[in-house]
Amino acid sequence: MMKKQPVIAMAILLLAALLSCSPRKESVYRKSMPIMDTIVSITVVCESKEQAEKALKETFAAMDHFAGLINFYSDASELSAINRNAGTSATKVSPETFDVIEQAVFVAGKSGGAFDPTIGPVVKLWDFAGRKMPSGIDVSRALPLVNYRDIILDRKNSSVLLRKKGMLMDLGGIAKGYAADIAAASLKKNGILSGLVAVAGDIRTFGMKPDRTPWSIGIKNPRQTGERDEIIAKVRLTQKAISTSGDYERYFIADGKRYHHILDPETGFSAETCRSVSIVADTAVYTDAFSTAVFVLGPEQGMRLAKEMGFDALIIDGHGTTHITDGLKEKISFEKNT
Ligand code: ADP
Ligand code: MG
Repeated sequence: MMKKQPVIAMAILLLAALLSCSPRKESVYRKSMPIMDTIVSITVVCESKEQAEKALKETFAAMDHFAGLINFYSDASELSAINRNAGTSATKVSPETFDVIEQAVFVAGKSGGAFDPTIGPVVKLWDFAGRKMPSGIDVSRALPLVNYRDIILDRKNSSVLLRKKGMLMDLGGIAKGYAADIAAASLKKNGILSGLVAVAGDIRTFGMKPDRTPWSIGIKNPRQTGERDEIIAKVRLTQKAISTSGDYERYFIADGKRYHHILDPETGFSAETCRSVSIVADTAVYTDAFSTAVFVLGPEQGMRLAKEMGFDALIIDGHGTTHITDGLKEKISFEKNT
């Protein structure tokens, strides 16, 4: 008896320890909604269905509100007001709109203008679904209007002015990532400790899956042969964001050449030296905008920028060669058939 007691006590302690770390009643709740012309999918890990539903509802509402502020196509958005007032007057905007524009200007500066949110006049000339390409003359007329240095930000008044008439701000290269960050903040505010927000290819993760393993994000093959998405690699992440910019999302092929929606602000034509760029960083606003920036800069300069920013990167260049940062090597597994 005397000898056995400590063993039983140990066993009870061990059992208690196991119970307290085991996933208990945690479940995974998932919901998708169309926002910003794309599908937003949110996954949360939570012990109560009511808490999960309330968090999801508030989070989708916050994203929807942001989407309304920066909708390029709606006359009622703050972004459209900024664009209408170009060359005329500063527009007072809400804190989110000011902040996303300020971040866009930051990325533009860091990338030497490879990312430029004033790319609007050039974007407007292209129609990828309709396979329409602009003339060189139209592009050369639009290019002088593309310059992020002509965005005048007044933080004190929370106002934005585009210096020249005809300028158009397009936040398509950063807004989805920003929205994913808004969602992560809203989920955390609602007491969610673990989740994954996917705004198309812009993904923010936090915490772990219920089995205490990291979230796993698939990277698509930019030159898949069939209709179905082919995954070439999986990246394991917790507390990180990842975005992929690719030349296979919106494109057409004419005379054997691929024209796609990531445009080089220097030429007004599609950037040519990458097929796909994935960036891993702490926030999705950075991964979204920098994946576009690195894509435009190309594999060498782009990789240099990613490293300088302390980001992880996977670049598939125009020849199909893979470039990868050391930090990503321990988080990524390539599929065997590629
Ligand atoms: P996706 O929208 O497929 O996720 P990106 O995040 O790379 O791709 O953003 C592409 C969008 O950003 C384009 O549709 C366009 O609206 C805008 N854009 C295109 N080229 C640039 C650029 N060089 N700088 C900033 N925005 C750009
Ligand atoms: Mg992007």
